[in-house]
Formats: sequence, structure tokens, C-alpha cells
Amino acid sequence: MSLSVNATIKTTENTINDEVKHNWTIAEVKALFDLPFNDLMFKAQTIHRQHFNANEVQVSTLLSIKTGACPEDCKYCSQSARYKTDIDKERLMEVEKVLEAATKAKEMGSTRFCMGAAWRNPKERDMPYVLDMVKGVKALGLETCMTLGMLSEDQAQQLNAAGLDYYNHNLDTSPENYNNIITTRTFQDRLDTLDNVRSAGMKVCSGGIVGMGENNSDRASLLAQLANLKPQPESVPINMLVKMEGTPLSDVDDLDSFDFIRCIAVARIMMPKSHVRLSAGRSAMNEQMQAMCFLAGANSIFYGCKLLTAKNPETNQDIALFEKLGINTETIADNNNEQQVAKQLATAIVDKQHEDLFYNAQ
Ligand code: SF4
Repeated sequence: MSLSVNATIKTTENTINDEVKHNWTIAEVKALFDLPFNDLMFKAQTIHRQHFNANEVQVSTLLSIKTGACPEDCKYCSQSARYKTDIDKERLMEVEKVLEAATKAKEMGSTRFCMGAAWRNPKERDMPYVLDMVKGVKALGLETCMTLGMLSEDQAQQLNAAGLDYYNHNLDTSPENYNNIITTRTFQDRLDTLDNVRSAGMKVCSGGIVGMGENNSDRASLLAQLANLKPQPESVPINMLVKMEGTPLSDVDDLDSFDFIRCIAVARIMMPKSHVRLSAGRSAMNEQMQAMCFLAGANSIFYGCKLLTAKNPETNQDIALFEKLGINTETIADNNNEQQVAKQLATAIVDKQHEDLFYNAQ
């Protein structure tokens, strides 16, 4: 390793120990990626322990509330209407069904319930339904998260007022690689949505996907973009591409497992106070690889057998792995007693003013 790289790492160490750094250069990030694997893991685990309980993982459940027929052209996504995939298109789900799924998720130990819709952006006619979903899930004592595509300032404010805790909107890839992956919205559109989410007062969940044929520099650039957001996203999903039949990226070369683990470790170092989520692609990882990701600083996962349209490990496999590793799930303060929860849920359902829940949301 060159002296200048060592110097860069030294500077990086000093900065991290003081406070969160928001002026990462791609060269600095690449220097982290270039560290010997054991040094990188040690550094990531050391930083992880300064901010989190190293044996705790936050657990979220993700439900697709509207599947398929999306007008966007994200080249990895089986829900795009532009590709011939075997996705069953579904209309916007009934509020009651969403609340049933959220109740089950809570029983299984999830603390956050994420609802995803395959939209370019929510239309005005969609808003009353999604707002009811947020209120109902919140009433169950769960943290709420949604991913609905681009948001206007006004929509972000409505979601915040309804009690939405997190909004997910991924940057997906580096600005340099962006046009190879999506052409129907710009990188700046994504930053604008994140701005609207922040300004409305919600927490930001934003990450990306690796294994889409990008190079090391792209991975470094994506992480620099995320870490240089001020404040940094509270939640950073790092997805490994799930190759979906019929999409343009269905036969891209596999990402080396160590390159993926390095991404997790570098994300942990750069965003020391964020939850780094081991997201899509987990079903292709064996237990040992997942354990390495936890060691690298991942401390959030999705529970449940389906991650939007891709496979996810069965919940009981996750529980077995947590037991083997001595990992506990993070809890949130549940201020509601059981009766209050039941009452709030009943009220949320009865108060639902919109009978026409089965409209075509494409
Ligand atoms: S990733 Fe989201 S926006 Fe892109 S095609 Fe899929 S559902 Fe649509």
C-alpha cells in the first residue's frame, strides 16, 4: 500500500473518531475498499461497537402493497412494465389486509413495517389510502416506513403528519453509472425526493444495489453520495442484485462475496451512526456470509419469506441463525398496552372512509 493511501486512511480514522464526516472523496472511499480484508473488518467492527450493541440486529418486515406494472425502467426490477417477467400484477392492497400483515409482523418480532408500492410516484387519488395504512400500522406500535417512488413536498408533509417514521428512496448506484441503470428519472430527482422527506421531518432510508456490473469506483462513489448527505440517512440498505428473469440485468456477472462484505464494512465506517441493512440478495448468501456481514457492521435485516418480488430467507432460518450467533433483535419502546393497541386498530379500521379500495393503481 502506498504512503499516500496510508495517510488517507489515517486522516479518515481521525475524522471518524471525532464526528460524522460529510466530505468523503471517492479516493478516500477507495482507500478503505483497498484495505487488507482483516484490517477493514477490524476497523468496521471497532466503529460499529462505538455506536451500537454489536449483538443486536433491527428487524423490519417489507410488504408489497401494490405490485408490478411500474412505468419506470429500472433495469434490475421485475416490476417494471417494460420487461417480460412473471410477476403477478396486483392493485393497491386493502387497508385491512395491510394491517393484518403488520400485526403478524409484530408477532414475529419485527419493529418496523415497510410498505412498498411499484409507482413512479403516488397519485393524489392514492394518498388517502396510504395515509390510512400509515395511521393503522402506527397504531399497532410499530415503526412505519414506506417506499412509493418520488414524493412532492406536499405528499411528504402529508405522510409525516400521518405518522410515517421513515421514507425509503434508494440512490441505487453511483451518479456515473446511473444512466446505465435507469433513464426515466434522474439522479437529481432522487436527491430532491430525499430533500422533501427530510424537510417534512421524516427519517431517511436510502441505499443502493451492488452487483449490477458496476466497478469499484462506482461502489465508492455511491457510498460517498450517501455518506455526504447531511444528515446521513438513518437507515442504509445495501442490496446485492437479485437477478430476475426477463430483466436486462438477468445475466450480469455475479459479484464476489468478499466485494459485497467490503461494501457493508465501508458503509459502516462511513456512516457510523446509521443502521446498515443487509437487504435484497440475502437468500443467495449462506449463513457464514451473513455472519461476516454482521461482523462488518450490518445491523438490520428484513424478516419474512418475500422481499417485494424476490425471495428472502424463511423467518425460522433467520431465528436459527440469530441463535447460533447469539444475536438479539432490537426492540422499540412500546408505549401502548394491549387494550389500547386493539382499540386504536379497531378505530383505524372503522374510521376508514374509503370503500373503493380495489381500484387499478397503475
Ligand atoms: S425499482 Fe421501483 S421505480 Fe423502478 S421499476 Fe421497480 S418498482 Fe418501478
